[in-house]
Amino acid sequence: MQYVSTRGAAPILDFADALLVGLASDGGLYVPERWPQIPDGGSRDYVETAVEVMSPFVEGSIDQDAFAEMVSDAYSVFDADDVAPLVDLGGGLHLMELFHGPTLAFKDIALQLVGRLFDYELTRRGERVTIVGATSGDTGSAAIEACRDRPNVDIVILHPAGRVTEVQRRQMTTVQSTNVHNVALDGTFDDCQDMVKAMFGDEPFRDRMNLSAVNSINWARVMAQIVYYVVAAERLGGRRQPVDFAVPTGNFGNVFAGHVARLGGLNISRLIIGSNRNDILTRFLNDGHLEARQVIPTLSPSMDIQVSSNLERLLFELEGRDGAAVGRLLEAFRENGTVAIDGAVHASLAEGWSGERFDDDQVLACIADEADRSGVVLDPHSAVGVLAARTCPRESGVPVVALATAHPAKFPDAVEKATGVRPALPDRLGDLLDRPERMTNLPNDLEAVEAFVEEHARAV
Ligand SMILES: *Cc1c(COP(=O)(O)O)cnc(C)c1O
Repeated sequence: MQYVSTRGAAPILDFADALLVGLASDGGLYVPERWPQIPDGGSRDYVETAVEVMSPFVEGSIDQDAFAEMVSDAYSVFDADDVAPLVDLGGGLHLMELFHGPTLAFKDIALQLVGRLFDYELTRRGERVTIVGATSGDTGSAAIEACRDRPNVDIVILHPAGRVTEVQRRQMTTVQSTNVHNVALDGTFDDCQDMVKAMFGDEPFRDRMNLSAVNSINWARVMAQIVYYVVAAERLGGRRQPVDFAVPTGNFGNVFAGHVARLGGLNISRLIIGSNRNDILTRFLNDGHLEARQVIPTLSPSMDIQVSSNLERLLFELEGRDGAAVGRLLEAFRENGTVAIDGAVHASLAEGWSGERFDDDQVLACIADEADRSGVVLDPHSAVGVLAARTCPRESGVPVVALATAHPAKFPDAVEKATGVRPALPDRLGDLLDRPERMTNLPNDLEAVEAFVEEHARAV
């Protein structure tokens, strides 16, 4: 399998090269040259389905036996029955719990595998990288858990000092591995992101440290997320049975994986995007205009995003895989803050996609209602998905799966506000609040941060 850039002007790469570079050199995102078909199949366990579904994407690049072993190893750390349990909420609505990994958010599903793939490929090449990233909460801990103790990776994560929740901070700072380094930056999340960009922009530094990233534009993360759409369909009757999905959406990586499953032959008639008040995608689906606005903080912070980077992969398909057209569209968007897609292209979107947006009051009411009705406690992100599944008009008789993306204990304040009960952390994290923390406070200053990275990175 070969990978091409959504802007059409970067080298064509195999899976391992696309994995390690992340962003394409023309500014685009890597996508496979074709969409492999998912074979008819029985009901296997999660790991067997995962190996079968992902194998075509790594073909010709990663040894099949080694790949199967990495997949099996990645999902052995999940502490739920068959990785991602499906809970029946009644009336044809099912909840798929994707939050039973080490950091209690769905990002673990992709990152646990990506960390192993990175280390495998770097070992094979005899290379070492320094992963740097900025986080507003969830991504940092999932990336740290994916990279901890891996011999060929050092990881430095910047978070805005005093601006992440205590649970989120402790999930990062209590990891005692010597290759994990946390920086509490004196600034906002945007300052952290700008700092990471500045380090990547400093070419001599980037090359000396062998900087790398595991952010959500990495194709391997999308690939790992295709699996649970197939698993859900299998458990509800088969890979060719009709099923809809409702997905709480931020950067568009999760729901795009559902679209890839559909392109591969899953019978998904509707992918329903759930947004909070940051509703650029809902507006885009409604009128074909992509228009960025101010980011509004909400109870579902992992979806407080205005420009969903993975949307570029869908635009590439909609534009008939014309990379130059995608480049023009996104260039206009960057210049003007708004762009419209062609009317016919917009019409084709309406067939398979829906979007619904909800504010914090609706989210709190949903968490309270669901706890009353079924006893299931939702986190604020998962609640957006459940609301979207319940609100969107759909064909009757077709089951809908709402993806639950975080454990309620990860957002205890919102859940307590809705239900009156503070959700407990799972046993293995029960002493999180007592564990010793390890982090370094740094000023918002490129020289200081680069000096810190240089001191700790073994790639030097
Ligand atoms: C990252 C995240 C999302 C958004 O997923 P995307 O792939 O960025 O659309 C939703 N919920 C939670 C809890 C997350 O951590």
